Amino acid sequence: MRITCVGGGPAGLYFAILATRAGHDVTVLERNPAGVTYGWGVVFWDDLLDDLFRHDPVSARRIWDAACKWDEYEVRVTGKPVSHLAGYGFSLGRHRLLDILAERATELGADLRYRADVEHLPDADLVVVCDGAGSRIREREAAHFGAEVELGRNRYIWLGTPHVFRTFTFGFEKTEAGWIWFHAYPFTDEASTFIAECTPQTWAALGFGELTGRDGCDLLGTIFARHLDGEPLIDQRAETGGTGWLTFRRVTNRRWDHGNVVLMGDAAHTTHFAIGSGTKLAMQDAMALAASLATADDLPVALERYENARRSRLAPLQEAAKASSEWFERMPQYGDLPAKRFSYALSNRRGDYPLWRYLLHLTTQSGPPRAMLRWALTLRRWSRARRRAGLAGPAGGAQHRRDPAHVGG
Ligand SMILES: Cc1cc2nc3c(=O)[nH]c(=O)nc-3n(C[C@H](O)[C@H](O)[C@H](O)COP(=O)(O)OP(=O)(O)OC[C@H]3O[C@@H](n4cnc5c(N)ncnc54)[C@H](O)[C@@H]3O)c2cc1C
Repeated sequence: MRITCVGGGPAGLYFAILATRAGHDVTVLERNPAGVTYGWGVVFWDDLLDDLFRHDPVSARRIWDAACKWDEYEVRVTGKPVSHLAGYGFSLGRHRLLDILAERATELGADLRYRADVEHLPDADLVVVCDGAGSRIREREAAHFGAEVELGRNRYIWLGTPHVFRTFTFGFEKTEAGWIWFHAYPFTDEASTFIAECTPQTWAALGFGELTGRDGCDLLGTIFARHLDGEPLIDQRAETGGTGWLTFRRVTNRRWDHGNVVLMGDAAHTTHFAIGSGTKLAMQDAMALAASLATADDLPVALERYENARRSRLAPLQEAAKASSEWFERMPQYGDLPAKRFSYALSNRRGDYPLWRYLLHLTTQSGPPRAMLRWALTLRRWSRARRRAGLAGPAGGAQHRRDPAHVGG
């Protein structure tokens, strides 16, 4: 089948890998030049790694090798002792991720065309629209897809910093204008992602609306100075005179397909960054669409199966993301809680943890129990990594394996 992907982000490139492996003729049209993209690091967890190793061990191994590994969450709040949340995860620069995916797709024979800003639907047997949250094609075909965009209340900005955080860190600072906080994590041994967020009232009172991108970064750098070890915050948009403050856009679509055109990734749905899953969901969409094409007899059935499968998998995550973003909108209500209760409230943003989680949280705040919990989680990470290495094969994933359940053809 001749397939064209509009957009060379994680969704388009990963789908190109899987569809090319399955024997399709794939072209990716990306408006940016090769190697140019927005954003800093992305976070992911074992579930995505397991999926990646099942679908294409070669790119999975490269992603795993390049990923930064962290092993707990640290919570810092003005005037309170630091507390910790159990958990581990991985992060990787968006540039690096896209380089790995583009290289792998090219090796397999996909045709990647850069500087190709798509205005109209291209001619192909299947057009995969994966041009991001602001999808132009989706807007043009709005009557068919029925897109709706709901705006979040809080203001946030995605920044980078050369300060390397030890682990995933939440930091909350109380200013005279109100609470402002960040979600930060290392994604190489030279840089971290730093997302600052606050309510619209605090944002206005701090004067961000009147500041240039660079001055806004300087103000944030002053507010969060004790966390940054003298390093600056960097706003990519400040270089061109703009500023990256946004309100989250929750995109949903009544339908994901129309004829031979189908939506994927952020073009189909967005999920609030507070649960850090946009990239993971985009790549899992690609896996589901490839699987559906491999097993269905005709295109309309394949597209419908893909949409149904993904909608049902997304629903719980979207609920979690909504609860999570609403917790951050209410954050100032929790600011006066003692440190351990505050960090527990942060981890239990959906409010559905059983009592034992609270007791475990309290006991693992101090030295030996915390060390034991981290050790147990490291063991789990290590054992899952070993199991995955089995999937990748003895040469660390260098061999090309077909998984007929997912990429037939
Ligand atoms: C600034 C920023 C930072 C983010 N950081 C994180 C993070 O840390 N962790 C995380 O999980 N998620 C993050 N996200 C969300 C995450 O980037 C998305 O969920 C994920 O990238 C979705 O992948 P995608 O391939 O669907 O879309 P995108 O990654 O948006 O890719 C779409 C691609 O389509 C291209 N394109 C757009 N229009 C056209 C056109 N007309 N013609 C041709 N090409 C076109 C774009 O240039 C882009 O390369 C971030 C989002 C933003 C905006």
